Amino acid sequence: MKRKEENNSKIFNQKPLIISGPCSAETEAQVLETAKLLAATGMVNLFRAGLWKPRTRPDTFEGVGEIGLPWLKNVKEVTGLPVTIEVAKASHIEKALEFGIDVLWIGARTTVNPFSIQELADALRGVDIPILVKNPINVDIDLWAGAMERFLKAGLSSVGVIHRGFSSYGNIEYRNAPMWHIPIEMKRRYPEILMICDPSHICGNRTMLQKVAQRSIDLGFSGLMLESHIDPDNAWSDASQQITPFRLKEMLTDLIWRREEDTDDEFLFALTQLRNSIDHLDDELLTLLSQRMQLADKIGLYKKENNMTILQTKRYNEILQRGLGRVQDLSLSKDFMLRYFNAIHLESIRHQNLVMNNDKPETTQPSSSKEHAEN
Ligand code: PEP
Ligand code: MN
Repeated sequence: MKRKEENNSKIFNQKPLIISGPCSAETEAQVLETAKLLAATGMVNLFRAGLWKPRTRPDTFEGVGEIGLPWLKNVKEVTGLPVTIEVAKASHIEKALEFGIDVLWIGARTTVNPFSIQELADALRGVDIPILVKNPINVDIDLWAGAMERFLKAGLSSVGVIHRGFSSYGNIEYRNAPMWHIPIEMKRRYPEILMICDPSHICGNRTMLQKVAQRSIDLGFSGLMLESHIDPDNAWSDASQQITPFRLKEMLTDLIWRREEDTDDEFLFALTQLRNSIDHLDDELLTLLSQRMQLADKIGLYKKENNMTILQTKRYNEILQRGLGRVQDLSLSKDFMLRYFNAIHLESIRHQNLVMNNDKPETTQPSSSKEHAEN
């Protein structure tokens, strides 16, 4: 068993943290050849390979299992790269520790289950090995945070998270939709957490990998997990999203890495000026919105006195058309304009409902009404 003093946590200090390797370990040669080519890029700092594969359907390849452990040990010896595998059961952890696996990761299908996570956290008590927790397949930030907290409570000092997108029925663009606001909120709640992105499982294909990887870097993610294979088309799992180590190198070279903080005084000054202007505009927007609601209150009173309904679909359509007619000039998207007016309408309805029912408009209770109102 690996004890605290041998902790590999410095692996997480590397920025960017680039994890790559095949979706699944298939043969000893495939694992070793892929790892050698990845090591030769000089850009990868952790080698991945799945040994136990959580597959959606039975009768598909479910991983080579523990026979792959010595292959990974060999990868470490030959290439010097530390190695990581997915663990989903206490018995996987026991085997991983026995074979000197450096980092563990938790798959999306395991993160959803607090019983499994607790079993894993208990198996890791007294062991300090870095661990990465993928987001659950469903959009539930508390479930993701809860999994991370179970490992922290078990005493692990290096716990990071991986954004791999979320299952969504009918989404044809992505295999797992990247709901960027979820990892952003995760980072807001836990500013110190290591957060990396897994474009491979988000995209499910090769064409969008670069775009998604760049997006995550622009948002301040600290690294990437990208699946690679010596012969991607013939991979035994996730063939369509894997790339060659050569392509990986090209992709990493083309990515633009950004800093979250800048120490250059001139740049910081310019940034502060721009941020001040944004704060100023936000204040104005809120004041204007409040004035708009006061007008809605007046109209609500008028409707009440004249016994008119709040809902006036014709007027709402007019407002939308006016807004949509301006999107191009204002460089705003149609989608944003629609969401903006919808939000304003819901708030106006709430105000007018209160006016109609003799209650004063108040500011704390959110409206649940979905009707569209004239105001
Ligand atoms: C994987 O990394 O190969 C994997 C199974 O990922 P996920 O848990 O994100 O589906
Ligand atoms: Mn995979």
